[in-house]
Amino acid sequence: MADAAAGQANIGVVGLAVMGANLARNLASREGNTVAVYNRSPERTETLLREHPEAGFVASSSIEEFASSLSKPRTAIVMVQAGRGTDAVVDALVEVFEPGDIIVDGGNANFQDTIRREAALREKGLNFVGTGISGGEEGALHGPSIMPGGSAEAYETLGPILESIAAVAEGEPCVTHIGTDGAGHFVKMIHNGIEYADMQLIAESYDLLRRVGRHEPEAIADVFETWNQGELESYLIEITAQVLRQRDAKTGEPLVDVILDAAGSKGTGVWTVQNSVGLGVPVGGIAEAVFARAVSSKPDQRAAVRAAVRSRPEVQEPGEGFEDDVQRALYASKVVAYAQGFDAIVAGAKEYGWDIDKGAVARIWRGGCIIRARFLNRIVEAYAKNPGTTTLLEDEFFAGAVAEGEAAWRRIVAKAALSGIPVPGFASALSYYDSLASERLPASLIQAQRDFFGAHTYSRVDSDKVFHTLWSGDRSEIETVPSTH
Ligand code: NAP
Repeated sequence: MADAAAGQANIGVVGLAVMGANLARNLASREGNTVAVYNRSPERTETLLREHPEAGFVASSSIEEFASSLSKPRTAIVMVQAGRGTDAVVDALVEVFEPGDIIVDGGNANFQDTIRREAALREKGLNFVGTGISGGEEGALHGPSIMPGGSAEAYETLGPILESIAAVAEGEPCVTHIGTDGAGHFVKMIHNGIEYADMQLIAESYDLLRRVGRHEPEAIADVFETWNQGELESYLIEITAQVLRQRDAKTGEPLVDVILDAAGSKGTGVWTVQNSVGLGVPVGGIAEAVFARAVSSKPDQRAAVRAAVRSRPEVQEPGEGFEDDVQRALYASKVVAYAQGFDAIVAGAKEYGWDIDKGAVARIWRGGCIIRARFLNRIVEAYAKNPGTTTLLEDEFFAGAVAEGEAAWRRIVAKAALSGIPVPGFASALSYYDSLASERLPASLIQAQRDFFGAHTYSRVDSDKVFHTLWSGDRSEIETVPSTH
């Protein structure tokens, strides 16, 4: 593998498992690119070269050789296992790169790690660009949605390369400079959190159509296909219809019936919830989706409760317009999940000092990524009308859409509860909406309880001052300073 001539390649890829190999092929297919490749184990490099001679890769068998095969300023995209893999590769690149060079981490890194790595490399004069890439293997090969962070200067060099390989939606490349240091990986994390919520809501819709609607998977696939012609049009709805049509070769049964009902995860949903909770953002839709996967993966508890229950409620009759009701409940709940996800982006930007254009984020999610959907155009429009919107739920279009579906949403959540069918996504979204829409919340009682046992103080509706009731004294009220404990 000694075919790397000095300074020959304008871009390099380190890590040639499925994502890196596909991204390298995507880069090589664009005019003007010569792509250097390197992988720790030479076998992956050899396979890639053998299977794709048309790509004209410049391959290296050492990291030193890889660095010298790149023109300056060197630009390398790292696509290795997130965490220790990324640290190992970045450390090795730091040894052979020079000030001004650019290291792009395209893996699913924790944005806090990206902030740490960016600061460390900046001290050495190197540019570190944590970049979220969504779209899986197919996206990497044909055009993903790309969410780069890092410095604006690094984006000047990197931007045109990323634009050339990104998905295109309505004539625009699905890439934008999200913000400095960890902003790209933060937004990718929220993307994945929203993806969890979207998938959970679709799964609940399927369950209702199956158990209450008494439809077979093929018929439900037809329903999803119809929905995919309207406002719900999205990649996830489209693949759901395809999955529901799939038959198991071994048994002839619908594949969905022979797959074990225990959902896995790789952690980005958990990160979204942990970080959002830390930022004080209620992302109930995403959290319920993460919890629902966790509950599904507790076979012992599920078996124990199934054995302990005395009776299960009778599943209700679907009644007139049931499928339409499910569609409306799905749409309204989806609006809530996206509103919560964008709230988390706003809070993250404030906390970490990023200037994130929310409309641009919605725009680059319209193609290439897993949550690509027609719906995102509405979010682009909402932020164009009002960039400082408090919540997407106040936008005229979304407020109207939710109001239109509200009665159906309530019927569905009630029918599910009466039928004993879990709908944590639908129910939590509705409760969130009702919380925001309520004139008064029982939070006043919680404040009083907190003041009772911990002297945590409270504010009054008729004053700007802070108060405490002398609960263990004569129960008179005193003006005080806010509690710090
Ligand atoms: P992966 O299975 O996550 O990682 C395998 C790659 O990492 C191999 O090239 C491996 O090299 C390399 N690697 C691991 N530890 C290393 C170390 N200590 N030093 C050097 N290289 C090391 O690969 P992937 O599925 O292609 O994903 C790559 C990245 O993209 C990950 O961060 C992943 O989270 C992210 N991502 C994946 C998807 C997806 O759909 N798969 C989607 C979006 C983002 P060897 O061949 O030598 O073992």
